[in-house]
Amino acid sequence: MRELDVPARTRLARSFGAAVIIALILGAAIGFATLRGGDQGNDGERSAATVSSAGRGETTGTAAVGGGVPTATVKAQVRETRIDPFDASHAAVAGLDATLRERIQKAARAAADEGVDEFWLTSGWRTSEYQQGLLNAGVKKHGSLDAALRWVKTPTTSEHVKGAAADVGPTAAAYWMDRNAERFGLCRTYANEIWHYEVRPADGCPPQKGDAAG
Ligand SMILES: [Zn+2]
Repeated sequence: MRELDVPARTRLARSFGAAVIIALILGAAIGFATLRGGDQGNDGERSAATVSSAGRGETTGTAAVGGGVPTATVKAQVRETRIDPFDASHAAVAGLDATLRERIQKAARAAADEGVDEFWLTSGWRTSEYQQGLLNAGVKKHGSLDAALRWVKTPTTSEHVKGAAADVGPTAAAYWMDRNAERFGLCRTYANEIWHYEVRPADGCPPQKGDAAG
């Protein structure tokens, strides 16, 4: 069924359902991290605070973003595709460059004021490991590394890994961004990616590159 055909209440219910599922997945991930932390035999009635401190020692390579957030949680979060741009506790949002995050949030508010009823990030900050996974999947999908690089950068070249890019969804929100991003100091980077936005350089938005390889 197309999104446009779904009554608002149904959409809301579906969003809520997705949130519950995500919460369950995160809960499972945190539980798993806790088990790995040497808590086998525990009855599972641990408080959130205890889980958080148990996971602290496992944070690797994401200190700038994760702080005390368990690695398993960060891994799960960066794979999500409906991310609330105002959720500062979400790794994909917390890891964004502060200027980019503020401008995306301003744009999201304006979009809502202008009748765009759904606006989320399909991706924000990514771990290097996740970026590599996307590239590997791209090679499978497109048949070669060269073909994949038109759509997915490497962990060392990706703006997402640097926290310098945000992907906007759903499609209607991405189209709204295409028309309005510059008002908020943001630029669409690639001709083949209507969803991908970065902070506008001081001298204005550069001409769009054809694709991620260009
Ligand atoms: Zn992107």
